[in-house]
Amino acid sequence: MTAQAKATPHVYSFKDGNGKNKKLLGGKGANLCEMTQIGINVPPGFVITTEACLDYLDTKNQDLPLELMNHVREQISRLERDTNKGFGDADNMLLLSVRSGSALSMPGMMDTILNLGLNSATLPGLIKQTGNERFAWDAYRRFIQLFGKVALGISDEKFDRPFDAIKKREGITIDTDLSADHFREISDVFLDVVHDETGKPFPEDVYEQLQLSIKAVFSSWLGKRAIDYRREFKITADMANGTAVNIQTMVFGNMGNDCATGVGFTRNPGTGENVMFGEFLINAQGEDVVAGIRTPKPVHELASDMPQMHVELLALSDRLEKHYREVQDYEYTIENSVFYCLQTRDGKMNATARVRTSLEMANEGLITRDEALLRINPEELDQLLHPRLDPESKQMPIAHGLPASPGAASGKIVFDADRAELARDEGEKIILVREETKPEDIHGFFAAEGVLTSRGGKTSHAAVVARSMGKPCIAGAEGIDVDVEHHIARVGDVTLHEGDVITIDGANGNVYLGEIDMVPPKFSNELRTLLNWSDEIADLRIMCNADTLEAATQASDYGAMGIGLCRTERMFNAQDRLPLVIDMILAKDRAERKEALDRLRPIQRGDFKDLFKIMSPRPVTIRLLDPPIHEFLPSEKQLEQEIEHLRCLRDTVSGVNDLMNTMQLLKRHADTKAMPKPFAPGGRELVESAIAKKQQMLLKVRELFEVNPMLGHRGVRLGITYPEIYEMQVRAILEAAVECNREGFDVCPEIMVPQVCTGQELLWVRKIVDEVHADIEAEYNTHVTFKFGSMIEVVRACMRAGRLAEIAEFFSFGTNDLTQSTFSFSREDAENKFLPLYEKNHILQDNPFETLDVKGVGRLMETAIDWGRKTNPDLKVGICGEQGGHPASIRFCNHIGLTYVSCSAPRVPIARLAAAQAKLTEDDYVLE
Ligand code: ADP
Ligand code: MG
Ligand code: MG
Repeated sequence: MTAQAKATPHVYSFKDGNGKNKKLLGGKGANLCEMTQIGINVPPGFVITTEACLDYLDTKNQDLPLELMNHVREQISRLERDTNKGFGDADNMLLLSVRSGSALSMPGMMDTILNLGLNSATLPGLIKQTGNERFAWDAYRRFIQLFGKVALGISDEKFDRPFDAIKKREGITIDTDLSADHFREISDVFLDVVHDETGKPFPEDVYEQLQLSIKAVFSSWLGKRAIDYRREFKITADMANGTAVNIQTMVFGNMGNDCATGVGFTRNPGTGENVMFGEFLINAQGEDVVAGIRTPKPVHELASDMPQMHVELLALSDRLEKHYREVQDYEYTIENSVFYCLQTRDGKMNATARVRTSLEMANEGLITRDEALLRINPEELDQLLHPRLDPESKQMPIAHGLPASPGAASGKIVFDADRAELARDEGEKIILVREETKPEDIHGFFAAEGVLTSRGGKTSHAAVVARSMGKPCIAGAEGIDVDVEHHIARVGDVTLHEGDVITIDGANGNVYLGEIDMVPPKFSNELRTLLNWSDEIADLRIMCNADTLEAATQASDYGAMGIGLCRTERMFNAQDRLPLVIDMILAKDRAERKEALDRLRPIQRGDFKDLFKIMSPRPVTIRLLDPPIHEFLPSEKQLEQEIEHLRCLRDTVSGVNDLMNTMQLLKRHADTKAMPKPFAPGGRELVESAIAKKQQMLLKVRELFEVNPMLGHRGVRLGITYPEIYEMQVRAILEAAVECNREGFDVCPEIMVPQVCTGQELLWVRKIVDEVHADIEAEYNTHVTFKFGSMIEVVRACMRAGRLAEIAEFFSFGTNDLTQSTFSFSREDAENKFLPLYEKNHILQDNPFETLDVKGVGRLMETAIDWGRKTNPDLKVGICGEQGGHPASIRFCNHIGLTYVSCSAPRVPIARLAAAQAKLTEDDYVLE
């Protein structure tokens, strides 16, 4: 060994590797090292680094560097010394597993080879050594198949077919009924399969086996499955690059009834409950549990089956969690009553479990409150805010399985992943139904609302993947007989076909026929507490955008600290108001308009009172009318059509009247009472006045026509041309405040002016407000307080922030419009025409209407805040654009010193957590 080669080792023994360096050793390898070094019983082994993998993938002729194999041989000698066994030694053989593992866990993404080191020469040794012929042949046939598949690229099916044929011939359905002779025969057949498929005999040389396996694991990094998975989960080279190879002494969970294998979580990953969760199989190898071939037993049964081993498992679980300070997901194997841990990693959990475990681990003192808050991805909370099945629903389930991942979903049944993808692309909601799932089904999970399997346990592939995606899953619903080939499933005497609708409830494992009603989500106490902690830590306040009582009530339940944006025009659109609004628009003069506004005012006042009361004593920010008023009228085209219809009706009415008159001449009796209104006497006048109204509207629509309404007569410009509109609104706001005060509610109204570009505009409105305010105080003989502020949504307003802040007490960045005006993009056109292309080609990293453009729009905001606070140090500043609910934008808002963010009600919990995280990570903030 040269000194130089030692300087950059590609291989580390579990005893030496740095357990913190997951990038170099992969997650699995790093944890195997760490566990070994803290004294957990791990079968000895070593890691080949991810760097070695990248080097290998870089070479042209795909040869392992000689150096590397020398290191490997050195490590094998160490293993031989430690275990007193010999690699390839027929009398006392060392068998190995070859396991992949990159920096981020990618469950089931790359294959593992077990029992490496078996060949025709060592097999008799294994029989002699174990005295268990059946076990040895079973191990051998497993090895041939796995090696054939992973290292030689032979499909599973080539092995499964002859295997099933032998079982069938013998009339055997479960593998445990196969004898040593059967496994010997199967091994022989498998060797032939390899020969037939590769044209070469099965490699006998154990080092050749090892070398081929290492190469295969390295190459799997660039396999389709792995690449798809990384793309889907947005795993970049920065996060994980290359896979490590772990070479480890085999231990056997399948040597008899004092052997077992299992997987577990230190806490329940579906509910978060602090009880060990997992499954095991006696006399089986690890793969058998995960693959869902036999349905395993729940872990608590280990206590009666193998009491001593259960004690060891509890100790392991406790030890791992205390050491890693995080819920662990581990694998273990018991070989002749000796307990080994084969793997541990941070447990993937759904949001319910993540919230509960965070809270409880902090309360137990295992982690700090800050750590608890940082442990949850705010976006994940969205999962908790989804509907559940209506508990009142009386429908009976048709089948029952294991509740593997909570949540409810309805959809059409589809039996394979490809078809699931197709159906999803056609806009269908689907439930993926399978016997069991495999890593190659992953795209079906993405396409499905939920997953149902008829085999496998709570730690089966289906369950693990569904939980990690937060999708509902029922596993092992054994009452369902899935016939994938014919696209049907049988439940008792019901046959389900592809496209039939079912509903699954992953919280209790019930399967229902058809669609079941859903009810809104419940906010758990754990979440409530965590969000209270968030509020204590965060600087940013979280307000909501709400225009209706329902939205405000929901936001209030979710912990909104007030309303940051109430769009008054939304209130104008309701059925009972629109006619009044149209009267106001059609008014010939100011007096007529005032008259219409007077009728609108009590209605607005009522709306505001509702919002003030629900939010009392929190602030409610009301934006004065913003959109161009033509938006309240129908389109020109629609009006033209309607007038055309009415004219036809007028002719018809005339014709009917003529008929009536003529009937008298004919001496026939005409029953005019039975006529519908337009045809009754006076009907013609009715139609005439309808036509007149519509014509008046049409004229108005034409008069109001604008080439570019977004930049036209709207916002404060409207308020200045029609001051009576803003006057009415301000009056309604302040009257509502006075009345609420009188009813004992503490209220805090804030009046906000949209689309401001100049100080003069703001002064103009301020004057109206002050006059109305003085009037009302006199009229009611009382004091009423309010705040006056400006939206900042045009570039000029940012540039004049210093001046505006002399007049306004608060700013609210309207980042939807500010983004439009900064980019000069009209949002709809951009999103429909070129933004997708921009994103795809990385001309823009993100859609700036979804993720705040910190480099452009953000700079304007920073400048505006800076200048604004120079003239008005107490200036309150918020954001009410859609981006205000997104964690990355929230982080930026915290960084530039905003007072609050305002977002839609369902995003309030997400924003509260994100605000705390922003504060906790502020020191690491870097603006790229
Ligand atoms: P994955 O990343 O898919 O979980 P693993 O490397 O953990 O793959 O291995 C797959 C299966 O092989 C696991 O069930 C594990 O328990 C089993 N296994 C791996 N190494 C050994 C070993 N040294 N002895 C016994 N079983 C092993
Ligand atoms: Mg594993
Ligand atoms: Mg706007």
